[in-house]
Amino acid sequence: MEKKVQIGKTELYVHPIGLGTNAVGGHNIFPNLDEEAGRELVRSGLENGINFIDTAYMYGPKRSEEIIGEVIKERANRSEIVIATKAAHQFIGNEIKVNNSPAFLKQSVEEALQRLQTDYIDLFYIHFPDQDTPKDEAVGALKQLKDEGKIRSIGVSNFSMDQLLEANKDGYVDVIQNEYNLLNREAEKELFPYVVENKISFIPYFPLASGLLTGKYDKHTNLAEKRGKFFERELFESTLEKVEKIRKLASTKDAEVAHLVLAWYLTREAIDVIIPGAKRAEQVLQNLKTLEVRLNEDEIREIDRIFQ
Ligand code: NAP
Repeated sequence: MEKKVQIGKTELYVHPIGLGTNAVGGHNIFPNLDEEAGRELVRSGLENGINFIDTAYMYGPKRSEEIIGEVIKERANRSEIVIATKAAHQFIGNEIKVNNSPAFLKQSVEEALQRLQTDYIDLFYIHFPDQDTPKDEAVGALKQLKDEGKIRSIGVSNFSMDQLLEANKDGYVDVIQNEYNLLNREAEKELFPYVVENKISFIPYFPLASGLLTGKYDKHTNLAEKRGKFFERELFESTLEKVEKIRKLASTKDAEVAHLVLAWYLTREAIDVIIPGAKRAEQVLQNLKTLEVRLNEDEIREIDRIFQ
């Protein structure tokens, strides 16, 4: 089995392919989700070597954490599973507010522990920055929870460079999770050099651009049926051409588009682990095949150039 990788400077060691679970119980994000398919895909990942699961309060809300808690409870090896979750959204009546106050983050960790049916969370993220709380104070609250053993490492998500600098004033940030994929490489400019220098691990979300970078779509795809920014016509069509170039390269390696795309992220110095999402167990198993692909320097540069 593939060697486990350390996430940045944390004590967390994970299989380099993790599992994103916004489609496990994430009824507020994807309508008509089948919860049993979600449960099955988590089980299937765990049975096939995945040990890093990414969830959040906001997926459901709550339901994704609950399902993951149930699946983990079925197994005897909690200590081998690395659970990451996130919070920051507060429901006030029908309104959703983003709240990074120390009191709210502490309460959020307590509630997530209940839903996940566990005594500790391996990686806890502030899901989104709010406008009011100084970011070092918010992270300071997480440091206290870490000292109490309720969380094992500290993450921030959707933070800008300036917000990360403020959050990491005391050097407590372990992970940043932001969007990064071959279609959006903004993070390479400022965030990547900073995180490498500061031993913060960058975990990219939307690595498959919601499926567009798997190579399963073509010009006949009915975009009216698809949701999300990757299915806006201009971006979608210009990406199809690039995906065809990746497909050619993949065929020389007896691999598929998704494998090359995911393998390419793992060649970035800032990235230790990836968390592609899935709707079905077969997709999880497919994405695990990424580790069978080895990209040489020329191939890494070629993929870089295609999406430059
Ligand atoms: P993604 O990883 O780019 O795309 C996942 C989707 O691609 C799946 O739901 C599935 O959708 C399709 N897919 C996956 N593997 C496939 C395969 N082998 N063949 C064909 N299709 C495949 O997007 P994501 O799941 O939204 O993002 C990854 C994770 O990042 C999430 O699950 C979540 O944990 C996290 N995330 C975090 C934030 C944040 O604010 N921090 C935001 C977004 C996501 P279909 O079957 O519908 O095509």
